[in-house]
Amino acid sequence: MKIIMLGAPGAGKGTQAKMIASKYTIPHISTGDIFRANIKNGTELGKKAKTYMDQGLLVPDELVVDLIMDRFKEADCANGYVLDGFPRTIPQAEALDKALAEAGTKVDVAINVEVPDENIVNRMGGRRACVGCGATYHIVYNPTKVDGVCDTCGKELILRDDDKPETVQKRLNVYHEQTEPLIKYYTNKGILKEVDGTVDMNDVFAAIVNILGE
Ligand code: ADP
Ligand code: ADP
Ligand code: ZN
Repeated sequence: MKIIMLGAPGAGKGTQAKMIASKYTIPHISTGDIFRANIKNGTELGKKAKTYMDQGLLVPDELVVDLIMDRFKEADCANGYVLDGFPRTIPQAEALDKALAEAGTKVDVAINVEVPDENIVNRMGGRRACVGCGATYHIVYNPTKVDGVCDTCGKELILRDDDKPETVQKRLNVYHEQTEPLIKYYTNKGILKEVDGTVDMNDVFAAIVNILGE
């Protein structure tokens, strides 16, 4: 099963993608997570990506496409995957379709997690990320047992630089300009499904399971 998660930054794509990956035993591939791991390890790719990410801009298509094509070569992708944060532009979606067609396969479903802009700023301002394992929490909607400490690995939680209010607004603008057109792109291909992302995360997941099947 090859699944794409669409939605604004902070819509809950990562939260749902993790649940999907666990239920359907496929890898969760987040381009944002891959970039953050590269930044942490000080790689050339990380250095290049950081300048864009810090400004709330998208990393250039070539960098992202090369990176994701490499990731697909890994053995765990044999039975599909859930893509979180890729594609984010029409050229990325076209590159993905082309690569999959060459391999005799295709995307099965694109799930759009719908959350209005008004809710997004709240979501992002309260998001906390673990510096150790990358787990994501929310100070109100998904708090840790102990304040500021990851439930899974015990490391410290931080507010991502790009989740500060100034940058969130910019990322939303970039989303509307460059990523939202993908909704039409996948609608035209007949594989778009919509879920209401404003409800409790378990209810969002139930709607997704309804689409994907038990
Ligand atoms: P969020 O989950 O909040 O939407 P991500 O972790 O997916 O954010 O992405 C963080 C940043 O990484 C983006 O703002 C962008 O700069 C960069 N990025 C991630 N995926 C892509 C992509 N497919 N194309 C271009 N830039 C990307
Ligand atoms: P994305 O990957 O789309 O950027 P995340 O999955 O990181 O979004 O979620 C953004 C923030 O909102 C996180 O702090 C997360 O815990 C929280 N969140 C996710 N889904 C919900 C939901 N259904 N209701 C309330 N908060 C949510
Ligand atoms: Zn952790």
